[in-house]
Order: sequence, then C-alpha cells, then structure tokens
Amino acid sequence: MLRRAGLLVAKVLSKLKEEAKPGISTAELDETAMQMTRQAGAIALFKGVPCPYMDKPFPGGICASVNEQLVHGIPSKKVILKEGDILSVDFGVKLNGYCGDSAMTVGIGQIAPDRKKLLVITQRLLAIAIEQMAPGVKWSLIAGMMEAAAKDAGFSIVKDYVGHGIGTEMHEDPKVPNFVSRELLRDDIVLTEGMILAVEPMVNMGKSGVRTLPDGWTVVTKDKKCSAHFEHTIAVVAGGCEVLTA
Ligand code: MG
Ligand code: MG
Repeated sequence: MLRRAGLLVAKVLSKLKEEAKPGISTAELDETAMQMTRQAGAIALFKGVPCPYMDKPFPGGICASVNEQLVHGIPSKKVILKEGDILSVDFGVKLNGYCGDSAMTVGIGQIAPDRKKLLVITQRLLAIAIEQMAPGVKWSLIAGMMEAAAKDAGFSIVKDYVGHGIGTEMHEDPKVPNFVSRELLRDDIVLTEGMILAVEPMVNMGKSGVRTLPDGWTVVTKDKKCSAHFEHTIAVVAGGCEVLTA
C-alpha cells in the first residue's frame, strides 16, 4: 500500500520536474499535482494543514520554495520561475489510507555552478542514507555521515526541520534528524525491518539559521543564501532498504 502511494508521489514529482521551466508559475505546478492526485483517487496531504502561527491552513497541494526559501513555500500565480532559480518541491499523498512523501530541488534552466553543487551535495546526502540504511544500523551513524558530507562541501545542515516516520499518517515517530544531536545519542534509533522513514536532508549554502516569513508558512534562510531539499520515503527491509518514492 505504501509502495502505491510512493509511486504516485514519484510520478507527480517527475511530471513537475519536466514542467519546471522559466516562465511557469508555482500555481500552475500545483494545479498539475492536484489534477494527477485527483485522477488517482488520492488526497494531497499538505492541503489544509493547520498553520502553527495563525488561522491559515496551507492552501496548496505542493510546497514550492524558490532559492533562499527552503520549505513550505505557498504556490502562487505571482511566483513565476526564472532562468537560474532553484525550486524545491515537496509533495505527499494519502492513497487508500497510506502515505507517501518526497521532495526534490531542481534548477530552472541553466543555474550557477555553486547552486548546482548545492543540489548535487544535498542529493548525495540522501544517497548516503539509502546506501547505509539496513536492519541493525543506528541512525546516529547515518546522520553523522550526512552532516559530515554537508560540512566537507562547505555547506550547513538545517537543524530546525527533520525527517520522520510515515505510514497511515504523514508524520509518525520517530523524528529522523540529518545531524547528530545529544537527544539522538541519548535515544538512538536502531533501524529494524519494516520501519518506514521519510528521510529529508535540507542543506544551506550559507549558515544553518532559518526563519518563517510573516505569511505564516514560508521558511527562508536568515542569510538569504540558497537552500536545497531532497526527500524519499524509505522502507527498511532485510539486508538493506527500498526507496518507495522512486
Ligand atoms: Mg515532504
Ligand atoms: Mg516529510
């Protein structure tokens, strides 16, 4: 059931990757995602999520975050993608009661080399997790490798947002950080067969500090430098793991 939900998310993101070209608005991308979701008989998970700061449920089906925005960007007709932008799209569905959650950052047209490097490194962090995830492995080991890979590239890991368990709900226990915290070392996650995690590294080109804009949703870097986000829903299986949103 989770594979089916994951496959739909993958199909939507791959379609949006094709459509994300200079001149298109993030509202148009949202419309594509909502149409595909409805056609599949699924529910878009992000639409209507209550805002923690004000009475303003999330209006979009996708989160569309451009450049210094890292997550929770609201799709809008006014946000027209330009050559050289980077766009993070986060998307999740519930299909037949089970959830899938995935994110990608794509370049719009030709992008600057430092932005390209940010995308490559952030995707690399997610690849490290996929390479290492297997029953018996402690999450702190993987989180440490991800954190080190970001630092080695001269970037920083976002610490305000983390991955999560996923199943019949979008956000389930445990919390899955992309860095080693004292909390994680005290209460480490030992991966077991059948565990399903949404692993989602967010990497900033500059410093790790982030803040939420007055719209109540859009999260941006404090230093206004670019941020990237890649996420997959991943099942721990005998001998390794399986990406459900590929
Ligand atoms: Mg997500
Ligand atoms: Mg997630």
